[in-house]
Amino acid sequence: MNYLFKRKHTKYADLHIHTDRSDGLLSPEQIVAKADKAGLSTISITDHDMLDGIEPALAAGKRHNVEIIPGLEISAEHDNDEIHILGYFIDWQNQALNERLQIFRNARHERALKMMDKLKQLGVHIDHNDVFRITELDYVGRPHLAAAIVQNGYAETISDAFNKFLGNNAPAYIPKSAFSSSEAIKMILDSDGIPVWGHPGTLKHDVLKELISYGLMGIEAYYSYHSNQLTDYYCNLSRENNLLITGGSDFHGFENSRRALGEIKLPYEYVEELKEAVINAKFKMQDQA
Ligand code: AMP
Ligand code: ZN
Ligand code: FE
Ligand code: FE
Repeated sequence: MNYLFKRKHTKYADLHIHTDRSDGLLSPEQIVAKADKAGLSTISITDHDMLDGIEPALAAGKRHNVEIIPGLEISAEHDNDEIHILGYFIDWQNQALNERLQIFRNARHERALKMMDKLKQLGVHIDHNDVFRITELDYVGRPHLAAAIVQNGYAETISDAFNKFLGNNAPAYIPKSAFSSSEAIKMILDSDGIPVWGHPGTLKHDVLKELISYGLMGIEAYYSYHSNQLTDYYCNLSRENNLLITGGSDFHGFENSRRALGEIKLPYEYVEELKEAVINAKFKMQDQA
């Protein structure tokens, strides 16, 4: 069954977008304006380990009449694999959540400095200031290092920089310290959010049952790199396990990419189901209180 055909709305959503508050190129305001032009009624800003893009997106959303769902993408570790957990409708002002993410971002900073040391040993000298926007932005990832490597002429393209230096099997790579998948899911639940397994197609073995036991509530079935077959597979898997279905492009600001804005147009029914889940979770909490 193709779940795209049960639509009654003509509204569409993209629930996976990065801004320049993590490793995207565009500001939250630019993203909202672009989403409006692309015919999206609803978007979620899901920066990596970072919530700073949400407030400006909410303000821009009011001006453009685009609905903004506060979101987040947490990099987590599951049995030595990297797994990304998305959180929707999180209380983005939750202090405990912000503090934990800050600790994680500090560890990212330390890791970046160590990777720069490794690069230096390989003869690649990149300047702290021109690489990172960390002094302003408080978030640094391998894409920032890659951009600096390219700017300084040590690689032709970002992907070349990953192949030569930064990729998981390349000489300057250092793994991130990460939350476990259960911690990531708990952090999202504790801040009133809906935890969703992001781009499940990147992980080769089955971890779903375990994630559900930690409190997972949804699967990102619609994703730029999923084939139609894979999307159907994850839609069915979600329904069999009583999970929500979400979807998004994972737009990072690059136009000529499969992850471009407008590539994924999630029918609005799925957003309504997400909203129902938020309301049900609130009632459940009140019952328990
Ligand atoms: P980090 O979280 O700092 O380890 O950086 C991971 C990010 O680097 C991912 O979200 C991708 O956007 C990017 N990335 C990983 N591998 C590659 C690659 N081979 N080419 C280009 N970008 C990559
Ligand atoms: Zn990213
Ligand atoms: Fe991801
Ligand atoms: Fe992402």
